[in-house]
Amino acid sequence: MRKKIVAGNWKMNNDLAETEMFFTELKKQVIPEHVVVMIAPSFTNLNQAFNSLKDFPVEIVAQNMHQCDKGAFTGEVSAKMLISVGTTTVILGHSERRELFHETNALLAEKVKTALENDMDIIFCIGEQEEDRKEDKYFDLIEKQLTEGLFHILEGSWKHVVVAYEPVWAIGTGETASPEQVQEMHHFIRKTIAKKYNDAIANDVSILYGGSVKPDNAVEIFGQDDVDGGLIGGASLKVESFMKIVNSFEN
Ligand code: PEP
Repeated sequence: MRKKIVAGNWKMNNDLAETEMFFTELKKQVIPEHVVVMIAPSFTNLNQAFNSLKDFPVEIVAQNMHQCDKGAFTGEVSAKMLISVGTTTVILGHSERRELFHETNALLAEKVKTALENDMDIIFCIGEQEEDRKEDKYFDLIEKQLTEGLFHILEGSWKHVVVAYEPVWAIGTGETASPEQVQEMHHFIRKTIAKKYNDAIANDVSILYGGSVKPDNAVEIFGQDDVDGGLIGGASLKVESFMKIVNSFEN
């Protein structure tokens, strides 16, 4: 079922003390029942975050994982390791992973397979570069990312998947896609899923927008028909701005 979701992606920010401070402050807040709230701290703080939020309705998710179960992969973290510290959801395909760490659609397809084999949930990120938009190639690019990275999954696995549309030109830049651009792309993503699978799956999947979402633009973006919430970078680092975004849905 489509859910309203706000997920904070902390990237490589917040050490252990800062993480604890954030959660101490967060636990004073009331999380609206109709919103699923998630935070993705760094690997080193997952266990601490999980323990500190045990009885609080915020899910701790991972920012990435390796596609293999174990082995000689220095510096990497497996699905089983994530699960062992209480993390059952992972962000895959963030544009920083694609760009800076050269993660391809084929590699992401493997990661998706591994996550599903381990019964994990996935936030699967897709998004075009500025040139793709200028050259009018953005729909093709998004379709390719979906087809090559995600469309190998079986119908029954869609209940484990959330899609996050994050135009790369809007991430961390302060430049947000307009509500019309967001709606247009989210509608296209849903249509593309319906074409490959069926209407029921397409209508059930939650599609988040990410790219400079802030308290002052969240209401308008979340008000679009095909937008089910946001993946939030910078504005998730402070409880005040994050909670304003969490509270930006109409009931
Ligand atoms: C992100 O990193 O996924 C993101 C959307 O960042 P920001 O909100 O800072 O643009």
